[in-house]
Amino acid sequence: MKSRWNDADARKAVESYGKTGISEDLALRTYTTRLLGSDPLLVLHGGGNTSVKTTAKDLLGETHEVLCVKGSGWDMGTIEPPGLPAVKLNPLKKLRALAKLGDEDMVNFQRVNLLDSSSPNPSVETLLHAFLPHKFIDHTHAAAVLGLVDQPNGEELIAEVYDGSMGLVPYVIPGFGLAKLAAEVFEKKPDVEGLILHKHGIFTFADTAQEAYERMIAHVSRAEARLAKGRRNVFASAALPKAVATAAEVAPIIRGAAAVKPAEAGGEPKRFVLDFRTGPEILNFVNGADLADYAQRGVVTPDHIIRTKNFPLVVPAPEAGKLEDFAAAVRAAVEAYAQRYDAMFARQNARVGNSKTKLDPMPRVAMVPGVGVFGIGNTAKDAAIAGDLAENSIRIITDAEAIGRYTPLGEADLFDVEYWSLEQAKLKGAVAKAFTGQVAVVTGAASGIGLATAKAFAAEGAAVAVLDLNADTAGRAAKTVGGFAVACDVTNRASVRAAFARIVERFGGVDICVSNAGAAWQGRIGEVADDVLRKSFELNFFAHQGIAQEAVAVMMKQGTGGSLLFNVSKQAVNPGPDFGPYGLPKAATLALMRQYAIDYGAAGIRSNGVNADRIRTGLLTDEMVAKRSKARGVSEADYMGGNLLKREVTAGDVAGAFVALAKARATTGHIETVDGGNIAAALR
Ligand code: ZN
Repeated sequence: MKSRWNDADARKAVESYGKTGISEDLALRTYTTRLLGSDPLLVLHGGGNTSVKTTAKDLLGETHEVLCVKGSGWDMGTIEPPGLPAVKLNPLKKLRALAKLGDEDMVNFQRVNLLDSSSPNPSVETLLHAFLPHKFIDHTHAAAVLGLVDQPNGEELIAEVYDGSMGLVPYVIPGFGLAKLAAEVFEKKPDVEGLILHKHGIFTFADTAQEAYERMIAHVSRAEARLAKGRRNVFASAALPKAVATAAEVAPIIRGAAAVKPAEAGGEPKRFVLDFRTGPEILNFVNGADLADYAQRGVVTPDHIIRTKNFPLVVPAPEAGKLEDFAAAVRAAVEAYAQRYDAMFARQNARVGNSKTKLDPMPRVAMVPGVGVFGIGNTAKDAAIAGDLAENSIRIITDAEAIGRYTPLGEADLFDVEYWSLEQAKLKGAVAKAFTGQVAVVTGAASGIGLATAKAFAAEGAAVAVLDLNADTAGRAAKTVGGFAVACDVTNRASVRAAFARIVERFGGVDICVSNAGAAWQGRIGEVADDVLRKSFELNFFAHQGIAQEAVAVMMKQGTGGSLLFNVSKQAVNPGPDFGPYGLPKAATLALMRQYAIDYGAAGIRSNGVNADRIRTGLLTDEMVAKRSKARGVSEADYMGGNLLKREVTAGDVAGAFVALAKARATTGHIETVDGGNIAAALR
């Protein structure tokens, strides 16, 4: 591991932050925190923190000694000075005299001593930083250090590698107790350059930002050098089926099995988003004959447990063409996983006087031999974090096994972290929305109704796949929505199949499918060319069928129901002159919507449609509006508002109807009109 300190960059940080009134100390603290945070071998997803002791003035012009320490919710790789809130240092130091300090009291005391009341909560490791005397302190959960401390003889290895240059702090849960213990270890040997926290991570410190950072790099490099010595080959491969199923084939099966069953019959299951990854290092790990042993010993550092739970779900290798067998094995594995979790909870909760409320017992990482690893989370972001941590753990466990035996903390210590109020607080703030954990697919999503619909589902918490014929426009739309872009020709079945494989590989499955793409062809029916009518049927009917078939195939594999939504058209029930080529396939699509409701209702898959009229979209352009209103001798506003409510209907109104239908758990086979009121188009 090499130092990435750069004098010119450091100077630039001091200058540019200086212009906004940030001190040199805080500017350099921000600079090296970013250096640490952007290396995944040092820091992943909140697994670390830094501080600097400096001075700051309050409104009265009084100068205070402060500790600027990483605030929770900030990512070290992209941190800015407000992510290192200033806490008055002297009150923090005085806390050391206390015999005991509860977590909530500690957090409150830290907050009331902030210089700025709008700051984020200072790190849970703030007191450890405060009780040590050094100006700059850096803390990471470096992968290489974990490879050494997660060994039965971790203490000996640390003594051998660091030869007295680092203190060793026995494992204690973070908070007041650890802060006091770390200070005592340091004071016994004040010439150390840092501390190794057994089963947890590493601290380095110095008088300058550069030296504290470079000590981190140097000491992690020593751990890396030790892990490179005397390695044995690990993970002899198990026998795998000749042909293994793909990630896209297995993902919906795992996703469906891992959904939390509803508390009452007929309720909605709580679903998760998946995040797939694979590669030679991952396959070497998941294909090992002893996977069920080394993968099931626990997390590499306690901080991971709230993201990944203590163990991954391990399932058998899926043989291609035998997905039914695989599905049965996955369901059994998930059930065993949940039972093991429940038993662990009962055991440990009894130890702490039954004071805790059980979290859901579902896995957050799944390992599939021959395929790879899935991160599992409430959102696409959470799933990616679980996936990143799983990949990182695979590297650490591989290294640890290569030089010894991977041996993390035991169940009781890890339970205390998983159910520690301060860890649970890190997950709060993410309030579940209507479609949190669900995956929505929207076709024709680059503009108009499709784009508005994609945005509406994203706003309700869904992970959204944005489909459009053109890859560039899909990409741009996905960016504004925060979704996943997929180029897809909905009239080409191979393209539709490939698009669903990509969606399922990306998010794990599909719960809501809005088949929206369409275009209007015109012609007097007695004279219209055959190929015009056929082209319209391809897009306005067969494409809806192709999309719905692929969506239903995924939903059936998941076994957790689903929602099909079709953009039909008022033409289906209230045809206009010369609009036969458009209205006829749309009428067939209305019947298609009802057929899905009939054939898949028993599987919990609902099918509904929207009849919209006079919406400014790709179908009804501004020029068309101008032309039509002129032809009728009315203003554009009167033309667009030519409905019972005398109100122009927008793409957002249609999007709102799709969202409402996706929420209407007792509604199927239904058409919702979104046209401002048109009695001629009313269904009943
Ligand atoms: Zn830590």
